[in-house]
Amino acid sequence: MPVDATKPYDPDNIFARILRGEIPCRKVYEDQHALAFHDINPQAPEHILVIPKGAYVSWDDFSANGSEAEIAGFVRAVGHVAREAGLLGSGYRLLANTGLDGHQEVPHLHVHIFGGRPLGPMLA
Ligand code: IMP
Repeated sequence: MPVDATKPYDPDNIFARILRGEIPCRKVYEDQHALAFHDINPQAPEHILVIPKGAYVSWDDFSANGSEAEIAGFVRAVGHVAREAGLLGSGYRLLANTGLDGHQEVPHLHVHIFGGRPLGPMLA
């Protein structure tokens, strides 16, 4: 079910629990600002999620309320993860579903990185 991204942050959402180490993940990368891990239900040969370490519901929340250091660190982490996954040559897609119409299911900002095959003009 998609979530209302205008609601306050839920500290018990599944990605918050992954950040706290309460739930395992297949970690790809971690630094001061970001954690990246494989999506549990991959939609492409490479499907990695990158999340900020701060408690931000959505892209809207993060872009409005994140510090300059958090935003810069997160953007750099997304690029780093895609590069390290070897996706730069063939290309990749970034996606940040936001709120109800965006069909965001987990209320902690995450950027999907898809790659490893031609993705077509849009993902359904
Ligand atoms: P959204 O629709 O953009 O919110 O995408 C949420 C994504 O999180 C989906 O692609 C899920 O497969 C993924 N997901 C949900 N729970 C887990 C988990 O525990 N580990 C890794 N990925 C997850």
